[in-house]
This record gives sequence, structure tokens and C-alpha cells, in this order.
Amino acid sequence: MPAMTLAQRIEHDLKSNGGEYVIRNNRPGKKSGVWEAFGIVYDRNNVKLDYAACKSCNKVYTFKTSTGMATISKHKCHVPASEVAAAKVFFKKHIITKQEKETMTVAVADYCMTNMRPFESLSGLGLKALIKTALDIGSNSIGRVTIDELLANSTTVSRNIDSHAWNGREKLTLVLKKHFDSGLNVACTLDLWMDAVKKNSYMSITIHYIDEMFNLYARTLHVKPVEEASHTAEMVLEEFSKGLVVFKVMADMY
Ligand SMILES: [Zn+2]
Repeated sequence: MPAMTLAQRIEHDLKSNGGEYVIRNNRPGKKSGVWEAFGIVYDRNNVKLDYAACKSCNKVYTFKTSTGMATISKHKCHVPASEVAAAKVFFKKHIITKQEKETMTVAVADYCMTNMRPFESLSGLGLKALIKTALDIGSNSIGRVTIDELLANSTTVSRNIDSHAWNGREKLTLVLKKHFDSGLNVACTLDLWMDAVKKNSYMSITIHYIDEMFNLYARTLHVKPVEEASHTAEMVLEEFSKGLVVFKVMADMY
């Protein structure tokens, strides 16, 4: 079987709800004509790609603002009318009612109160991404989804962490390569600390950078255990370098 092109891979992922790519509305607020039916493809890291896709049948086309949309406008959607209607329902935004919002607020408060989970665990991308995954599965399912069947137990999750982290690093490596290829630099921040109970040392490496549009990005490259307890300059430099090697960005650093 010949290797799939990126467009084919995106199309396959969109159709199978793989979650690697999403279709976002182009120029929100300025929807007209073709952009009612089409959206721009973004990858998992929220990077805009040079592809547009039909929101109904997920057909993917190469798209750049410079090349125009002649090809896209010729697209005749072959999805049966009933499915188009279903897709329209799917893409239609549900307006959250006051009562739904209150129910959710109580559920979130319960989540924090059970086992005294920090309020901080509500902010950021983590919980949002988790809820979004569950909502997406729910809205794509016919019938009731049982939560116990859906949720993996903690042992399964912890077994997956290492491989998942490496997958994430591989994806981040590509994002960073794209950034460095654009000729822009990054700023690195290190932090070192020791946990109070087991006295293990850790180092975190975070980078900050902007893109051509001055959007600010913060990426945590590592939170890695550090064997050496004394925080000498040599040790810090060595651990920092080791951390960067993983992302193949050493050559771009100095
Ligand atoms: Zn279509």
C-alpha cells in the first residue's frame, strides 16, 4: 500500500475522529459562502495547517490564502442530505443554560472537595482537555455512555505515561523545529527544587517564544529528576544540555 499523503492522513483522522486534527472556522465573525461549509485544519498543538476541510464530509484540500479557494468552491458535497443535517446539528453551538452552568459548578466544587483536590487543578488545559474528550465521545455516541467503562483505571494510566510522554516530546520536537526554522529565538527558564519528603531533586525546563504574529507560547520541555543533589553550575548546565538533546534543539541554542 502506498504511503498516505498528509492530506489523506488528515482526512482519515477527521473521519475517524482520531483527535489529531480539528477543523476550525476561518475568520470567525466573517463567515460567508464557502466558509460556512469549510474550515481550516489545525493540528493538536493548535498549529494552523495549509489545509481546509469540508465540515460535512471531511474532504481535505490544500489551502493557502495566497492560492485562493477555486478548488474548494468547486466541492460538491456528496454526503446525503440527512447526514448533512446531522452534521449541522453537530457543528451548531449549544448555548449552555444557566441551570447547566450551575450543575457543572456544583460538580466541579464536589471534585475539589473530594480528597481536597487543589483549585489549581481546574485551571489550565488539563481538565478542559479531559472534559472535552469525554464530551466529544458522548456527542458522537448513539446511546448512553457509561463512565466506568470509559475511564481507564489508575494502573493502566500510569503504565501509559512514559510512552505518552515520549510521543508528546516527539510532537513538540516538530513544533520546535518549525519555530527555529522561522528564524526566531526562544528564552529558557530553569527551576530546581527538592521534594520535602523523599528529598528527590527535580529540574524543570520551560521555554517561551513568540511567533511572527507576536503570539506568546510557553512550553514546558521537562520536569526531570536530577540525581546530583548539589546544585553546582556544572551540574545545572549538564542536566540542562541533556534535556535539550531530547528535543534536537541544541544546535539552535547558542
Ligand atoms: Zn463535503
